[in-house]
Amino acid sequence: MDIVAEGREVRPFWVRAHAGTAGNKRADELAEERRPQKENGSGLRSFSAVVRQKVIKAASLEEWQQRYTEGGTGEITKCFFPRVEEAYRILSRVTMTPLLAQTLTRHCGFAQYLNRFKLKDSPYCACAPDKVQDVLHVLEECPIFGRECAETEAGTGVVVARHGFPGLLSDEKSRVIF
Ligand SMILES: [Zn+2]
Repeated sequence: MDIVAEGREVRPFWVRAHAGTAGNKRADELAEERRPQKENGSGLRSFSAVVRQKVIKAASLEEWQQRYTEGGTGEITKCFFPRVEEAYRILSRVTMTPLLAQTLTRHCGFAQYLNRFKLKDSPYCACAPDKVQDVLHVLEECPIFGRECAETEAGTGVVVARHGFPGLLSDEKSRVIF
């Protein structure tokens, strides 16, 4: 807090404890000194400690969102989950299957991906010569996969498209059908 008061920037990051990292022991001592004292043995933290924690949480979430938005990885995941909070809330409860991981990371057996690794001559879909066959094409517009998508929609009541993806995944039954 003193550093912030001096107008300097603070960037929290994780370091291994007790590994001789410069300054880590001192940070431990300071944290212990500043640990909110339990009052009257009630075990309740002081109001300011609670507020401080909320401010820190909001600030780190904002920074996480910014890095998520600007980062060069996970384009498909971002397409389905533009807000990192939602991605985390839903995906942290979902059991990651190989198929789901592939869908989210674009590592699918679709033409666009296979073409990148020279496993297929063309990244385009058989349904149209100008349509790149990637996850979004298959989920949203490809007539070849239309029947599968329609069956999933009928079974889950969720539209199979990027905006319906969080809904598909957040519901256990829909997820199984998907
Ligand atoms: Zn197609």
